[in-house]
Amino acid sequence: MRRMMGWMLLLSLLFCGCRSKEPDTQPQNGETDQETETGTNVDVGVSTVCINPREENEITLAGFGNDNRGYDGILDDIEVGCVVFSANGVKCAVIAADILGWDMEIMAQLRERVERELGIPQDNLLFNASHSHSGPTTQKNTVGIGVVSESYNAYLTELTFQCMQQAAGDLETCRLYKGTAPAENVAINRRRVVNGTMQMSPNPNEACCNECDVIVAKRGNSFKVVLFSFGSHPSILNGNYISAEFVGAARTVIENRYEGATAIFVQGCGGDAKANITDETQTRFISNRYEDVYILGNRLAQDIIRYIDGGKLKSVKGDVAVKVSRFSLQLQKNIKKKEDYVTLAEENRGQYLHKVYRWYYDHYDELATEVPFMLQRIDLGDSLTIVAMMGEVVWGYDAKISALMPNRTVVVAGYSNGVYGYICTAKMYPEGGYEPDRSTTIYQLPAGYLPETESNILSSAAQLCGGGSE
Ligand SMILES: [Zn+2]
Repeated sequence: MRRMMGWMLLLSLLFCGCRSKEPDTQPQNGETDQETETGTNVDVGVSTVCINPREENEITLAGFGNDNRGYDGILDDIEVGCVVFSANGVKCAVIAADILGWDMEIMAQLRERVERELGIPQDNLLFNASHSHSGPTTQKNTVGIGVVSESYNAYLTELTFQCMQQAAGDLETCRLYKGTAPAENVAINRRRVVNGTMQMSPNPNEACCNECDVIVAKRGNSFKVVLFSFGSHPSILNGNYISAEFVGAARTVIENRYEGATAIFVQGCGGDAKANITDETQTRFISNRYEDVYILGNRLAQDIIRYIDGGKLKSVKGDVAVKVSRFSLQLQKNIKKKEDYVTLAEENRGQYLHKVYRWYYDHYDELATEVPFMLQRIDLGDSLTIVAMMGEVVWGYDAKISALMPNRTVVVAGYSNGVYGYICTAKMYPEGGYEPDRSTTIYQLPAGYLPETESNILSSAAQLCGGGSE
């Protein structure tokens, strides 16, 4: 049975009257001196499309390194959103969806078709996934986290194209604004040493994302787009229900605050962080209470709203430009022999890992030794840049990439343009744990990345971002 449960219900149950208590005189648009600045005009178009599965049994849910999640219904809608930016003859688009990660084949099809039919160059498309663990399994480069549905993937591809087409047809002259809102209490680091081993457990003493980048497009004085980027696993829920998780709730609160605005969430460097919902001792995550999805989403949205209404946004001037760098990331040597996977499969009989190790046995001769990687730099004016990175990028990269362009606001977006496992910092390899080590199995990787991966990525990023600190 399908269960429907809207945000409005939760809004009214949990926070009834909150909005109506706001004084009527409060400026709707966060009036500040930003209004008097004249930025270069950029044409901006936006659209969102619901990507809920159509039928029961069409999909299985993704995430959590297991494949025992069916699909029992919808808690709240998942969507794909697209923002197209066009200036100085250059067009680019940010596409963001409530899925675990974008499938390589889907993106390849869309890049080719969008370039041909909408005239946006393939390299100028940034596909970001919110990493909702309550979305359909769509990535073919995974094993053991659900079954990819060909029919759903085709449907998602078509809906995403429609969304991009609508956004490309919605271009209006806008002014762009940027800012970074403090967001201290939304995520918590999830790597903690317990009894000598690295566990997935809340760690308030270790850093994680504590700020939210905001990009706003306004036509005249009214909001058109509020794009926000924060880094955390949106993984409060673990039932068999579709949900956009707390980032979807945050979008709803923002859209309710700013009339006419479309809110778009871009996942940042959230690989080693989780939604900050723990017991009082902060030693245990609490999962699957649906009200927490709204509570945390509202917390993030209020951080953003306080920032915008406080007049903190700065206008952005200058040209749009895109640069891309592609290279490979090397894996550690696979020390397992083919027969080892038979033993592992036997040891895990009756568990999902049995199927996983069978897969490794069956594909032993074609197991990867390296995987593709892509860095994408999108300048939206001369003081704002998005750097998009493939993979489950951890928080440590945010400051290091941002430091390459000290005179710009840099939005570092992980989970972009495909995901082949976690992109860890060098320091995490000797520490061990899920991200550098155990997680590789579900991404069809026979071993983790080399610890030099961090320095390889950063030196390529330095080349890509050189000349950006003008
Ligand atoms: Zn993850």
